[in-house]
Amino acid sequence: MNIETRKTIKTYRIEVTGIVQGVGFRPFIFNLASRHRVPGSVSNTSEAVIIEINTTSEKNVVKFIEDIKKYKPSPALIENVEYSEINFKEFKNFQINKSKGNHYKFQLVSPDLATCKDCVRDINNPGDKRRYGYPFTNCTNCGPRFTIIESLPYDRPQTTMKKFDMCPQCEQEYLDQLDRRFHAQPVACSLCGPKLWLTDNHNRTIEYKDPIQKAVQKLKQGCIVAIKSLGGFQLAVDATDACAVKKLRSRKNRPHKPLAVMVGNIKQVKENFKLSPREEAIIDSPRAPIVLLEKKHKSWLAPEVSFYNRQEGVMLPYTPIHHLLFNTIDFPLIMTSGNNSEEPIARDNREALDRLSSISDFFLLHNRDIYSRYDDSVVKVMDNKEMVLRRARGYSPYPVKISLDIGNKAILALGAQEKNTFCILSQNYALVSQHLGELDDVDSFNFFKETLKVYQRLFNIHQFDMVVHDKHPAYTSTRYARQFKNIPILAFQHHKAHIASVIAENHLEGDVLGFAWDGTGYGDEGKIWGSEIFIYHHHNFKRWGHLSEKLIPGAKAAIKNPYRMAISYLYEIYNQKSGASSFSDFVFNCCPHFKNMIKQHEIEIMAKQLKKQFNSPVTTSMGRLFDAVSSILNLTHTISYEGQAAIRLESIADESIDKEYDLPLCHNQLDDISLIEQILEDIQKKIPASVISAKFHNCLVGAIIDICKMAQDRYNICQVALSGGVFQNSFLLSKTLAGLKENGFKAYTNFKVPVNDGGISLGQAYLAALKLKKEN
Ligand SMILES: [Zn+2]
Ligand SMILES: [Zn+2]
Repeated sequence: MNIETRKTIKTYRIEVTGIVQGVGFRPFIFNLASRHRVPGSVSNTSEAVIIEINTTSEKNVVKFIEDIKKYKPSPALIENVEYSEINFKEFKNFQINKSKGNHYKFQLVSPDLATCKDCVRDINNPGDKRRYGYPFTNCTNCGPRFTIIESLPYDRPQTTMKKFDMCPQCEQEYLDQLDRRFHAQPVACSLCGPKLWLTDNHNRTIEYKDPIQKAVQKLKQGCIVAIKSLGGFQLAVDATDACAVKKLRSRKNRPHKPLAVMVGNIKQVKENFKLSPREEAIIDSPRAPIVLLEKKHKSWLAPEVSFYNRQEGVMLPYTPIHHLLFNTIDFPLIMTSGNNSEEPIARDNREALDRLSSISDFFLLHNRDIYSRYDDSVVKVMDNKEMVLRRARGYSPYPVKISLDIGNKAILALGAQEKNTFCILSQNYALVSQHLGELDDVDSFNFFKETLKVYQRLFNIHQFDMVVHDKHPAYTSTRYARQFKNIPILAFQHHKAHIASVIAENHLEGDVLGFAWDGTGYGDEGKIWGSEIFIYHHHNFKRWGHLSEKLIPGAKAAIKNPYRMAISYLYEIYNQKSGASSFSDFVFNCCPHFKNMIKQHEIEIMAKQLKKQFNSPVTTSMGRLFDAVSSILNLTHTISYEGQAAIRLESIADESIDKEYDLPLCHNQLDDISLIEQILEDIQKKIPASVISAKFHNCLVGAIIDICKMAQDRYNICQVALSGGVFQNSFLLSKTLAGLKENGFKAYTNFKVPVNDGGISLGQAYLAALKLKKEN
């Protein structure tokens, strides 16, 4: 380079942040630079991708950045690009530098991605000697990421792939900038990569040469096969084989809860389920979640897969193992998490054999280790938007951005007891963990602690400035919070955190009317809340209304047995009526079906229990109202999974009915006793349960709209937030959103985090951030 060029050529530094590691970003920059004919370098640091180039003008830099944004690899997500001129450095060509660690800030980590179309082509191409039928094929656009990363920066020695040495051909691909596998960290082939084999449930190897074919044969025979998938084990069984499905249900001790299915291709999905363009885009995306789809009239699944549910959880194959299985299977497979009811998903071969050998007949194992457990995510489309119900594979640890920025401080929010997630907040990134399950299970709690460590290491957050937990004194997370010393520990009420999660993810400012309708949450005064209507004003919550107070006869026993809640409501009504005969006669008269299932004696015992308030906590839970109505309508009297009674009640609701019951708000209480009386009258009139269910749902919609109108008149609030497990009910939520919009309100709910307790940690973190901001 002569003196003249040195005068005209400058050096610019471009810094790109976002999900830019493990997504083929450096090779992409390499190719882009050669197209722009700019020499320079690209390197990963733990916080960003740094590009340095030699060029003559700032205009070229701007053009280069425009192309970065325009042509970036599809899994990449660019949050920010900054550039500046730096001291002159001479580059002869363009080079990819080794990663540099950095211990100050954090770098976003890419979730795992479903096998891309090119890799599917490779595994189906007999001409490709190394990848044909190879179950660990991947490239820079697809494959494992988060589940195999031990620490950042994302390079092979920091992943569970470190134990596999690349063969010369793989190394060639890894080093060739024109190759799709250029710098793909998990790159491997049949010569050098992980191997698959099939064992029986005593860990005796059955097949090493063609384990997929052998597994298919076993599935066709009605066997249960445990498959080591991306983030843990899945249990597979023929979803059209009623006997096999029943066997899985009984061994897994899961009598009723719907089971997700994997369907071989999009054509079969369309044949059997209603699929909107939005739903198709989601199910076929690199995230490849389970999508709740409406069954077409004639489903080809065994009825035991999801019983009366209108919807079915459906996903497409998302790893090469799945694709290879479906190459020779033309039926859908149940593909459910490899665990016993509420345990975390099994991760290691040994652990899976220990825990799942009583469930599964065979095991499709391999030797690529899983570092982080990762369940399948569950989503549905609501209001033509993607609504995440369980956030895990493909979604976490992608952050939710909030409008508050707390800079380099860090907040840890511990979430709720059920469907637990935690949330780490730093800057304005809320890193909501993947679904961790029920914390009262010891294994789940270990999973929680183990995942928290992973997040702290990956995101370089070693100290917290504030820790938040739920107000419930007996929650595992509350006890866990106490171990943090010398930092502020805050507790927020469960339903306030629900509403805060909506405010956080929708970046709401100003006053909000919040409806937190839920199963259970510890109230400010120690009672069990669950139908809260809040006025959120100047960052403070006022509990403005709720259902009238009821007793839960037998506490936990009543949650498993919705008929107990029905009896509680009937007891209230009985007490208000003078001159009625005995309570049991009253019950049998109102609901004749109870004659066949509850003995007179049991009813009288419950009446005594309610009278003395013995082991009968006070509640205002909306979930318990759904339970009572479901039992009063002779739908569900005992349950084996949360929400079962409400789901059944929703499933029968006749959508063509627009009539509703009255549910007035008097003295800040919704009069649900009079609502039950109206339902009893309809039962006497022999009105069908499908109509009663619709009128019940409609009256809740009507009540929300009426209350919003009242709040608008009195307090001039027009923003409404809906959250809590009850709003998983599609009938209720879609009608409420539509009704509110028609009446000129701005209605918000949770889309990015679950509307159920999985979203609580985000709300807690947000409330803590407000506090932190106020104090500084
Ligand atoms: Zn690929
Ligand atoms: Zn190889």
